[in-house]
Amino acid sequence: MTLSERDQKHIWHPLTQHQTAAPPIPIIQAKGAVLRDENGKEYIDGIASWYTAMYGHCNPVIASRVALQMLTLDQVVFTGFTHEPAVELSEKLLNILPENQKKVFFNDNGSTAVEAGIKMALQYHYNKGEKRNTLIAFEEGFHGDTFGAMSVSGLSVYNGPFEDFFLKVERIPTPRKENIDEVLKKLQEILATNQCAGFIYEPLVQGAAGMKFHEAEGLDKIITLCKENDIVCIADEVMTGFGKTGKHFASQYLESQPDIMCLSKALTAGMVAMSITSCTQSIFNAFLDNDIAKGFFHAHTYSANPLACAAAIAGIDLLCSQEMQDNIERINKSHKAFKANIAGNPKIKATRVLGVILAIDLEVTMERYGVTRNKLFDFFMEKGVFLRPLGNTIYVLPPYVISDIELQKVYDVIKESLLLV
Ligand SMILES: *Cc1c(COP(=O)(O)O)cnc(C)c1O
Repeated sequence: MTLSERDQKHIWHPLTQHQTAAPPIPIIQAKGAVLRDENGKEYIDGIASWYTAMYGHCNPVIASRVALQMLTLDQVVFTGFTHEPAVELSEKLLNILPENQKKVFFNDNGSTAVEAGIKMALQYHYNKGEKRNTLIAFEEGFHGDTFGAMSVSGLSVYNGPFEDFFLKVERIPTPRKENIDEVLKKLQEILATNQCAGFIYEPLVQGAAGMKFHEAEGLDKIITLCKENDIVCIADEVMTGFGKTGKHFASQYLESQPDIMCLSKALTAGMVAMSITSCTQSIFNAFLDNDIAKGFFHAHTYSANPLACAAAIAGIDLLCSQEMQDNIERINKSHKAFKANIAGNPKIKATRVLGVILAIDLEVTMERYGVTRNKLFDFFMEKGVFLRPLGNTIYVLPPYVISDIELQKVYDVIKESLLLV
């Protein structure tokens, strides 16, 4: 039996309709920006395996740091204990996060980082004796697949069975120069008619929505209005964090800093699963009391797993290196040149670039949408480039270590694919 056949016997894959889906592609090895399947065929990982492996797959710096940690301390309960990797990571991370972030709380993945952030926002008000029960979120946002995270996500096409059980959420559109007055007016109405506890947003780029961008100026105004009303602002930087937008964090393009930040994906460089919810001193202080129940009674068994912390430490060191910063700059320039190169192509509706993110919206009609997406995906894979179009948007978010030749191949294949749509 092949690997794929053995897989299909027992495994239930994420985001998959098994009745109609093609069999999964068995990957046996990864190095740098390249994935290799069991037949030896190579694919350039154009989306860094969902924006995790930004410093390259199987990066020896990260692997050796994790291997060393494996032989020193593997796991210990993080309630009542601490360890060097967690402490060192907290120091390194707070050094690069926006200055108002003062505490880090450890979780397992992006969704649980969001879940903890939402619970912190709700309990922050509860501890202060206020009953606030509403969250504010953007239309088309994506924050994960656990219940709290699903509730605040606006992309709920497949959430039908669960919607009756969601948290109470009010939505606003993302801000642009043309609509900011309208958005602020809508926000004011929401504030006037609800008890709002928190506002959660993906700063500047909505990843799952199709790498949609919005403007820093408008977002600043929204955050300012929220803060005036003591609404806890939660920046979900699970996708945008660790250099993808050209700065370490997208929030660093803004004047107003979040009260809480959610980090995962590239946090651990694609090596081990972990996430962090960071917060300001004043959020943390709202949980201090002689009454035990005012503490944050939330834990995951693998909180601050030392191996994950080791991967994150090595990742941050790499991110801050001149070499990686030069790579980010190089990819950004290259994306801009490609954007100029395909400008005016009649198959393209819009293109945009921020940091290492390149998105291309195609001029396809809605009925053909699913078909086009699958056709493009199959074409890219056949050509040895792993890209996962979102609806009618093709996006590239490569590992920072991708070579110029590999990047050129990604562009060439995209250009060729336009002949198919
Ligand atoms: C991926 C993602 C999540 C969810 O993270 P998981 O680790 O998949 O649970 C949450 N928010 C954003 C912005 C993401 O991109």
